[in-house]
Amino acid sequence: MRLFNLNEALRRSDRGVGMQYQGARRIQIRSIPDRPNELAYHEDRGDGTPLCGQPNKDWEGRPMHYAQVEAGDVTCERCAQILTEVRRAKVDTEAERERKAGEDAARAERVRKIRESGARLALPELDSSLKRGRDSRA
Ligand SMILES: [Zn+2]
Repeated sequence: MRLFNLNEALRRSDRGVGMQYQGARRIQIRSIPDRPNELAYHEDRGDGTPLCGQPNKDWEGRPMHYAQVEAGDVTCERCAQILTEVRRAKVDTEAERERKAGEDAARAERVRKIRESGARLALPELDSSLKRGRDSRA
């Protein structure tokens, strides 16, 4: 349930805020490094290149540069998409870990209750293994 809700929330936020988000480190491909232009702002991968791998080609005959700029809106849809995928994968991994921990706890709780009560086990395979144990003791 938790897993589904988190993914649903992520999908909803994707639609809600569009593809723009705040980036701490951004890159814009510019012909003059300190002159902003109309091109997309990319997320800095961490090495001064865009997260999406947008190539830095000459544009209309002018050499272009990766200009590292201050925090602000990242407008590149591919960068946003990649970051969303990374975040979603992280959320899924955490949700899965929680789910497994929850299952383990639930299983341990069932076993504990059964041991306490001495009643029949809820799990058939454990039930039969316990029976075998009792039979061999008898
Ligand atoms: Zn990008």
